[in-house]
Amino acid sequence: MDCTTCSFNKQCRETEVCPATSFDRDEVIGKYSEETVIVQAAAALVDAGRAGTLSRLQETIAFARQMNYKRIGLAYCYGMEQQVQQIADVFRENNLNIRAVSCTVGGIPQNEVNPASEYCTVSCNPIGQAMQLNHHKVDLVIMIGLCMGHDILFQREIKADCTTLVVKDRMFNHAPLNGLLQQKS
Ligand code: SF4
Repeated sequence: MDCTTCSFNKQCRETEVCPATSFDRDEVIGKYSEETVIVQAAAALVDAGRAGTLSRLQETIAFARQMNYKRIGLAYCYGMEQQVQQIADVFRENNLNIRAVSCTVGGIPQNEVNPASEYCTVSCNPIGQAMQLNHHKVDLVIMIGLCMGHDILFQREIKADCTTLVVKDRMFNHAPLNGLLQQKS
């Protein structure tokens, strides 16, 4: 399947199953029926004309409230610490309990994380970051600027629900679509 070069006249958008589909539709609907709380919390962010009225940060707070999450973990890149302090303040102002863990947690040198590295300065430690947040029993983790690849390791280890607030893009001020626009021009 390649929906970007659709051969079926985008019939899914008219609520029809196209011939390239390889899953059982009823099975999928059954799975959604087991996730009504999160489905409805997500819908509440955009239904009734609300779509486009909230920033991602506002959406994250509204979602956390809707889901009744009590303890929020921030898994962040140390290079964004100033912004993370501001983000943490916003969450606290909204009565959410914060645990913030830097990617440098544990102080492990780069050559211990990666045997091919010659560097002995501190490494990002996404596995330790996830373990620390698992220890704090957070209900929701918000990833802020984790490096490509480290985000994958983090998500393999974390046991809580997990969402991304900031995706790292060192060239385009953490807005990857801006890179796409530059490629087109
Ligand atoms: S009709 Fe099928 S191939 Fe086309 S966009 Fe929808 S799912 Fe993708």
